[in-house]
Amino acid sequence: MSKIIKVLELGSGNSRRGANQNRGRALVAGGAGFLGSHLCERLLLDGYDVVALDNFHTGKRFNLKAVLHNPRFTCIEHDIVDALPSNLRVDEIYNLACPASPPHYQADPIHTFKTSVLGSLNLLELARKHNAKIFQASTSEVYGDPLVHPQPESYFGNVNTHGPRSCYDEGKRSAETLFFDYSRTYGLDVRVARIFNTYGRRMQPDDGRVVSNFIVQALRGDDLTVYGSGLQTRSFCYADDLIEGFVRLMNAPSAPAHPVNLGNPGEFTIMELATLVVDYTNSRSKIVHRPLPVDDPKQRRPDISFARNNLGWEPKINLAQGLAHTVEYFDTLLYGNRMAKGAAAS
Ligand code: NAD
Ligand code: UDP
Repeated sequence: MSKIIKVLELGSGNSRRGANQNRGRALVAGGAGFLGSHLCERLLLDGYDVVALDNFHTGKRFNLKAVLHNPRFTCIEHDIVDALPSNLRVDEIYNLACPASPPHYQADPIHTFKTSVLGSLNLLELARKHNAKIFQASTSEVYGDPLVHPQPESYFGNVNTHGPRSCYDEGKRSAETLFFDYSRTYGLDVRVARIFNTYGRRMQPDDGRVVSNFIVQALRGDDLTVYGSGLQTRSFCYADDLIEGFVRLMNAPSAPAHPVNLGNPGEFTIMELATLVVDYTNSRSKIVHRPLPVDDPKQRRPDISFARNNLGWEPKINLAQGLAHTVEYFDTLLYGNRMAKGAAAS
């Protein structure tokens, strides 16, 4: 059963591009999440009416604070695994609904898999019904523990089908299959982004991913928990850069015939990240080691040649700048911006 948190006329009105000089109605599944809430804001700025659908598993109403009173914004509490509200009319769909952090997506793995597969099917059917363009937030996890480095879109990946990460990795792989089969079968305009690790404002303190964990630990003066040796690598993209990539991919004049990598090619070991976070927070926290989770990928770095050459997109915000913004965000959230007041974490 879905609950409308704030009402917009869903079944009527200006859901077509050009009406009232707006750009039509965009549906953002997962719109109350970390990335989804940034995307809702961006789409409103770009002239869309925006409908967010979210089951609030990891999303928060608080993330929507800036848009909830916008008359062109609606939020519906709904799980995309269930049949969608029948009166939804949309011009564009962005599917970001899925828990993204390993502890969250592993908490109910069967529901995570259903979210990627049944949820995608529901949204694809909605797109078909309204001939709407549809975007899928896929992931670098489709490359698994990659044997090719950096990872180009043409790499098929190295994924365990039955491990604790599989519900997410294989769910997202299946969703990619569905998106391109809907394109081939029904001529649907689909855009699929493979997103590499992205961080920034609006992550939750209990999100569980590495950047938020380290920053929150450092600000609290707790030990920073490096899993394994810390020599595994990731490439970290700041959220604002990524959202620009989403919009460029969605607005590209023709749909790429394959998924597109979006991420920051700067590659860091987890130990390097821990050291940077301790530095930027002036923290006296210690770095400690904890067991490496099963199937934790050893390396990750996007080849973004396609996005560079075809979307004119590349990240502008480096790790130092992005961490500074994110540290400020968490410090404000947790302590009312204690660092600006001159107090170091101890
Ligand atoms: P997030 O957990 O903050 O956001 C996910 C949102 O989807 C939340 O608001 C959650 O409540 C909602 N949701 C989950 N299951 C749902 C369901 N069944 N029905 C309706 N809503 C549901 O994570 P995020 O980092 O903002 O990720 C957004 C999307 O981008 C996800 O699909 C994720 O897989 C993908 N992605 C993110 C990253 C990253 O580094 N942030 C990397 C790769 C892919
Ligand atoms: N990680 C870590 N400490 C933490 C959280 C994560 O060392 O507190 C490691 C994790 O084992 C992985 C990397 O950081 O090697 C990135 O983890 P995250 O969960 O952010 O993303 P993913 O593994 O899905 O890329």
